Amino acid sequence: MTHLKKALGIDIGGTKICYGIVDRNGNVLSDIKKTPTPKTSAEIYDTLKNIIQENYSNIDVVGLSSAGAVNLDNTRVVSSTPNLPHGYNNIDFSTLCDKKVYVENDANCAVVAEAAIGAGKGYHTVLMATIGTGIGGGVYSDGKLFRGAQGNALEVGSLKIFADKRQKCTCGRYDCWESYASGTGLKNCAQKGALEYEEFKTSIYKDKNPEDITTYDITDGVAKKDAFSVRVFEQWLYYMFIGLVSLTDIFNPDCIVISGGMCKFIDVQKMEDNINKESVVTDVKVKIAQTENRAGMIGAAILALVHT
Ligand SMILES: [Zn+2]
Repeated sequence: MTHLKKALGIDIGGTKICYGIVDRNGNVLSDIKKTPTPKTSAEIYDTLKNIIQENYSNIDVVGLSSAGAVNLDNTRVVSSTPNLPHGYNNIDFSTLCDKKVYVENDANCAVVAEAAIGAGKGYHTVLMATIGTGIGGGVYSDGKLFRGAQGNALEVGSLKIFADKRQKCTCGRYDCWESYASGTGLKNCAQKGALEYEEFKTSIYKDKNPEDITTYDITDGVAKKDAFSVRVFEQWLYYMFIGLVSLTDIFNPDCIVISGGMCKFIDVQKMEDNINKESVVTDVKVKIAQTENRAGMIGAAILALVHT
């Protein structure tokens, strides 16, 4: 019997580092461990080094999942990442140990994990959108990750959905999809709706300053059948749909996987019906992610093993 190779998958998050030993099929073979993400890049480096040493004799390769754009050699995070400390993009992760260390963007790792063992298992082309504070994305097609010339493909949060500079995004550009359809986007929809919609006058939030209406207020308002919240939420869902249907026409996925903190509020069956009606592509399935917190760790490990 041939030795089945194993990877140490490590997910470097803004608040915690999570890791475990994973095989080529995405099976987690060890306990999943967690440690807080240190505050400086030097400490992050040392923590990663210690985690790898702890597991060194049991693994063949190391896969790292990180926020930010990753270079084509999969050794560094090249973009600035607001959740990770100064100097982080100077780290050459390949120097962590003498076994291969493979780094990939967290959204890309997530789509690999979903395609391997999650909601996208068995599909040809999986498009993933992670709806949180912003929107991340990835495409895994015919056994391969779509990376683009510099490794920055599928920065779907920056997709432009208007041509007339309506709303400034936190990135400084205008009309990025994520400024309309993320969790932050829902808050933006509420602020705008408070000024425009008649329903605000009779809403449970009518005495609130529009700027103080939160994402939670709206999802809670929908649950309480507040007409204003429902209208804001429907507008938000429409923005979500506009982005997903455009991406469907570009990538021809047979499965779209939605993940992140906001995905539990989305009626995926309705989204699927609407996408199939509006897109030139047919028979697209829309599903909720299954691997969530383990996605980065598992996806990074699989990628490291595939590229060894
Ligand atoms: Zn933006």
